Amino acid sequence: MRTATAIIDLIALGNNYRKIQSLSPNAKVLAVLKANGYGHGLELIAKALPNADAFGVARIDEALALRAAGIERPIVLLEGFFAKEDIDTLVEHNLQTIVHNEQQLNAIIDAKLKSPLKIWLKIDTGMHRLGINPDQLTQFYQALSQSVNVQKNIILMSHLGCADEKNNQATPKQVALFNELTADFSLEKSMANSAGVLLWPESHYQWIRPGLLLYGVSPLPMDTCVDGIVPVMTLQSSLIAVREITAGAAVGYSGAWVSEKNTTIGVVAIGYGDGYPRHAPNGTPVLINGRCVPLIGRVSMDMITVDLGENSQDQVGDVVTLWGKGLPVEKVAEFSTTIPYELLCNITRRVQVQLAQE
Ligand SMILES: *Cc1c(COP(=O)(O)O)cnc(C)c1O
Repeated sequence: MRTATAIIDLIALGNNYRKIQSLSPNAKVLAVLKANGYGHGLELIAKALPNADAFGVARIDEALALRAAGIERPIVLLEGFFAKEDIDTLVEHNLQTIVHNEQQLNAIIDAKLKSPLKIWLKIDTGMHRLGINPDQLTQFYQALSQSVNVQKNIILMSHLGCADEKNNQATPKQVALFNELTADFSLEKSMANSAGVLLWPESHYQWIRPGLLLYGVSPLPMDTCVDGIVPVMTLQSSLIAVREITAGAAVGYSGAWVSEKNTTIGVVAIGYGDGYPRHAPNGTPVLINGRCVPLIGRVSMDMITVDLGENSQDQVGDVVTLWGKGLPVEKVAEFSTTIPYELLCNITRRVQVQLAQE
């Protein structure tokens, strides 16, 4: 009997990658693998994308894990290095780094490196999170390009804050500012995350940086159709109890759900200890034997309860899908008032990982 299992479809991953390439045929792809490949498995995903032009991670440990697993593709630290002591590690393991602040700039210039670093210089074009201010570009670029510690052909980049909202004018503003700032540089440029890939072709430049979309999940609102993208992860478990209850029975912690009628409830072996969201409300869809049934009551650490309905035929041992093929994680996220990103990367170590059968 299956307990909480993330079934990973690497064929779908490859197809999603090719679909993304077709949306931006002239751009190179930096495949974003941070947070354990959005919960799908860092090394597993990297090995399944042998043609990716580069991989993006958020922490140096993630990059080192990839190198330890034998991954030789370019790897970019998307937030740069955090401590100047890490610079030698970057050189030793051939890691590329973003530069977004003065501390990083100074550390690079002052270092004595065995070989020069590949740098992505990040400009803040309006998101106001990471990046140098537009008026610092000349200073940073000159200092970096004159340093023996920096390779020729710095890449200029920025990040979009509102790319998933197709009517939000923040994105065209960011793109226009980026164009204005970088017009005089014949260097490679990069701006688009998944939503940029889908909605803003003018943000593609030479490098796109998809994350979520690779995993077959859309960053756009639920009512926006995204063709040809298939979920890579299907999260499943099994029914471990099927029980008749009478009208008026309270189910689960705090008796938070009370049945209005006689019905059959199912108990599924998955809970917040596996990464299923604890705040998923009554009515969150759960897929069993080809139909969606509502979650009822509180999500426990190891279990959830669902209302199977009065005359259900479901049995102990039947497979239950929490999200993935047949039930988009985007939908579960919407019910849980969160985003699919959080649900995917909250999958815990207890969840078994299994490859999909072809
Ligand atoms: C996470 C990240 C991405 C990918 O974002 P998605 O929305 O998952 O496509 C791209 N660029 C940077 C700098 C990131 O940190």
